[in-house]
Amino acid sequence: MKFILLFISLSIIIAVLLCNVLIVKLERNSMNITFQCFMNMSALVIMMYLAAVFVNSHKGALVFYAFYYLFMDILLILLFAFIMMYTQRTAFNKRCMNIIMIGGLVDGIIQLLNIQMQKLYSVQFVMDRSGYMFYRVVNRTGYFVFHLAFCYILIILICFRLLRKSVRTSSVFRGKYLVVLSLIVISVIFNALYMTLGIEYDSSVILYGVLSVALFYFLYYYKPSGLIDNLLSYIVKSSEDVVLCFDIHGKYLNANEIGKNRLRVSRANIDLELRYKELLENKNLHNISELTWKEEFTENNSSRMYEVKYKKLKVKGKDIGSYLVLHDLTEEIIKNQDNHYKATHDLLTGIYNRDYFYKQVTECLKTIDEPYCMVCTDIRNFKMINDIYGKQMGDEILIKVAGSLKRLLKGKEFCCRLRDDRFAVCMPCKSFDEEFFKREIYYISKKIGMSIPVNMYVGIYEISDPTLEVSVMCDRAYLAINTVKDNYQGLVVYYDDKLRKDVQREQRIVNEFSDAIAASQFQLFLQPQVRYDGSICGAEALIRWIHPELGIIPPFEFINVYERVGFISRLDLYVWEQACKLLSKWRDEGHDNMYISVNISPKDFYYLDLYSVFTGLVEKYKIHPSRLHLEITETAVISDIDKQGLLIEQLRDYGFYVEMDDFGSGFSSLNLLTRLNVDTLKIDMGFLRKSGQSTKSDEIIRSVIDLAKELDIHVITEGVETEEQLNLLREMGCRMFQGYYFAKPMKATEFESQYLLNNGV
Ligand code: C2E
Ligand code: CA
Ligand code: CA
Repeated sequence: MKFILLFISLSIIIAVLLCNVLIVKLERNSMNITFQCFMNMSALVIMMYLAAVFVNSHKGALVFYAFYYLFMDILLILLFAFIMMYTQRTAFNKRCMNIIMIGGLVDGIIQLLNIQMQKLYSVQFVMDRSGYMFYRVVNRTGYFVFHLAFCYILIILICFRLLRKSVRTSSVFRGKYLVVLSLIVISVIFNALYMTLGIEYDSSVILYGVLSVALFYFLYYYKPSGLIDNLLSYIVKSSEDVVLCFDIHGKYLNANEIGKNRLRVSRANIDLELRYKELLENKNLHNISELTWKEEFTENNSSRMYEVKYKKLKVKGKDIGSYLVLHDLTEEIIKNQDNHYKATHDLLTGIYNRDYFYKQVTECLKTIDEPYCMVCTDIRNFKMINDIYGKQMGDEILIKVAGSLKRLLKGKEFCCRLRDDRFAVCMPCKSFDEEFFKREIYYISKKIGMSIPVNMYVGIYEISDPTLEVSVMCDRAYLAINTVKDNYQGLVVYYDDKLRKDVQREQRIVNEFSDAIAASQFQLFLQPQVRYDGSICGAEALIRWIHPELGIIPPFEFINVYERVGFISRLDLYVWEQACKLLSKWRDEGHDNMYISVNISPKDFYYLDLYSVFTGLVEKYKIHPSRLHLEITETAVISDIDKQGLLIEQLRDYGFYVEMDDFGSGFSSLNLLTRLNVDTLKIDMGFLRKSGQSTKSDEIIRSVIDLAKELDIHVITEGVETEEQLNLLREMGCRMFQGYYFAKPMKATEFESQYLLNNGV
């Protein structure tokens, strides 16, 4: 008997040691460490008991039994701590744990003292039924009850905790706690039996080892199949997907809740079976073990899109049926469609946005077999409309424009809102109809009912190179639009190569301005002004750009550009300064009877303080102000006659001569003269003649000369090209002339050598 106990005990100790090896591989958390200590302590308890049973001395038996009880206390404390962690009672009372530790300590001391005092129990050398002698605990006194109480209280607490947890937890996990509880209860029952029935050897000792090994197995290795089955069935039940099971003959077996609700299979099994069989036939699923496809189902009169997964169920190679999983894609599709719409459309007008348009057009142009064009629109006065009528009106116009453009879309066309008030349409050239745009612009203006018309421009780039970036195509269409000056009618403008070159040249003119000024590439040319008798009284300063690569650039190429970009004042200041330098040089050379007329751009009136500029210049170069004639235009003064009139007055008072240039080319000329005092009127003959009605223009010149005489204003006619014109002008009473008939504008040096020495033509 004694040796059977030894054999079993040793086997269990070996098992515990093996478990030790396995537990080391697991995660090192406090629960696992506590469990490992518990296991090892159970081995120690067994060892102590074996030692007590096998020892031959009385004293030795007392020592081993003392340690046996001491280790038992520690074993239970560890089990308690482990169970608390296992049942997730991490926050159990620290005080409670301290009391338990103190209890264990007191019992341990008492047990050790008993070696000497034997007040708890004593040991006796007895013979077992097989005739073997061993030391057995006898004469347990009332003090021993403390040890028993300590142990049983701990066991009760442990069992209570496990019971409580198993009741409270979901039935799925209940088994996890009940297994542990039953093992503990069995061990305790064996122990109690030993105590009460007076069994020779304490077999419950072995049970502690068995308990620890069994616990190890249940906790770490055994996955209860019931638990997994339960979990899986819960997953299926609570799944958002429809799951339907069929037997090998395609007969419907069951579905999860959502499946029953969605497809009403509980009431319409037959339909479903038919449907399923049909599917099997159609998709030829008999020979396939799994397949996924997308399918639309009609539910409550609305259709929903599902991803259907079919799978055959096999156990050990034999078919046992099949199942379908239907994943509802409808919401995803709607969401995707919504996101796609937002990403590709302009939300205000509902047409494509720029990026998507670029993408679509790029794709389309790869496959076209006919010429396409890029049509871009721009509402010039959109900002003004927004400012005056409000953003809502602006939005309404944009929606209307988009609505008009949409009507162009017949399959091969694309349109989009590029940004703000800019739209683009890419369409076959043959479908483009200028009239459509003119009509639509008119229609929108009328429909909106504003007092100012929508001033929309349309630029067209006929796509000669479909591999160009779409943004470049749009830029070209806008280049065409930008060449249009203020013109308050809907206008259609084409981009062509000349335009591209013009724009490039214009860009160059702007970019090179500062360098050209610094390098003195701008030069003053002079065109003589001639008296009635042919003598020269002065000259008009006309600027030329002597470009190192492009040659002589005439002013009409750059004056307007510089007026637009704001460089004109810098150029004019430069010209005026050059003119004053020349005048001061001439004065020094004794030609102070000569004057120079300089041109003043209308923009100069805004950007410069003209009075101080001109007075400053004549003072700086010490020239008489009457030597500098100032040529102004109607456009410069017309916007604010009072203010500019005063300035002109001040300049004249100072001694400058003010000339009204291009008189007659504007629209309010005669009326202007009554409100503005100038010294000279300059009539552009060429300009008047361009109208083609020479008799009428002659009449105008004649009446302007008469009027000027009456108002005591000098008249000079420019653009005189022929003797005939000269004679006619003389006959009309004009006394001063300028024109190619006398001389073209020439370099200052040339002018000096030609006219300053002999003063005549
Ligand atoms: P504008 O002030 O009316 O100058 C007269 C223009 O008529 C000059 O052209 C001149 O060369 C041209 N011209 C003179 N006689 C005849 C003729 O018999 N027949 C024809 N067909 N044309 C004649 P240009 O030099 O090309 O200047 C063009 C315009 O550029 C000028 O018109 C003036 O408005 C502007 N401009 C020229 N220089 C300057 C400047 O320094 N500053 C500013 N702001 N504008 C200038
Ligand atoms: Ca002029
Ligand atoms: Ca002129």
